Amino acid sequence: MTSKCRHCGNVLKASFCNLGTSPFANSLIEPQEISAAEKHYPLELFLCSNCLLVQLDAFEPPDVIFSNYSYFSSFSDTWVAHAKRYVEKICSEYKFDQNSQVVEIASNDGYLLKEFVARKIPALGIEPATNVAQVAQDAGVPTINKFFGSALARELVGQGLGAAAEPARERARRARQRQRDPAVRAPAHLGALVAAERGGLAECLAGRYNRGTAMDFEWDDTKYEDGNFP
Ligand SMILES: [Zn+2]
Repeated sequence: MTSKCRHCGNVLKASFCNLGTSPFANSLIEPQEISAAEKHYPLELFLCSNCLLVQLDAFEPPDVIFSNYSYFSSFSDTWVAHAKRYVEKICSEYKFDQNSQVVEIASNDGYLLKEFVARKIPALGIEPATNVAQVAQDAGVPTINKFFGSALARELVGQGLGAAAEPARERARRARQRQRDPAVRAPAHLGALVAAERGGLAECLAGRYNRGTAMDFEWDDTKYEDGNFP
């Protein structure tokens, strides 16, 4: 193993989870391809001892993986229901309105952003898989069909889209609230980010053991809300 960390360039040495080899998750073959050889990749996780980034070693360029993708978030009714409740919660918590701007990176088929669109809150999705982005666009969710990276970020900033830091007064109010009530946890969106990451790993694992089960996974808010994972 002489690969280097794709973030800091440090040589990767620490392997902590080796699941053998696997074809791409959510990249299903056509019936006519059934007897052809299918490419497998090592599914082994490494931890960079310098910057702590967890990563796979062998990888293909993103456009090979995501150009035509079989995973649609809306396939899971429980996940869609969770997304609806999540939007209700953060719209009230952060007081999102017509003057807000929501951006979701890797927005899939618009399962989440359509809830903002329904509330007339400006929303923009960024989704690299063309077939998936098309479904979102057809559902009325503005979606850019590109990979998110520094080039697209600069393009969006050039169009006047940028993230503003939380105003100091609001930040102080939240800090006081947390001091008063230790039960006030990290903002809900952090939970969702963790959830998304976990979802990705679940897809990865499902792809290893039973390709296709991740297509309709069950989501239970009572178990996973706010990043409390079993
Ligand atoms: Zn590193």
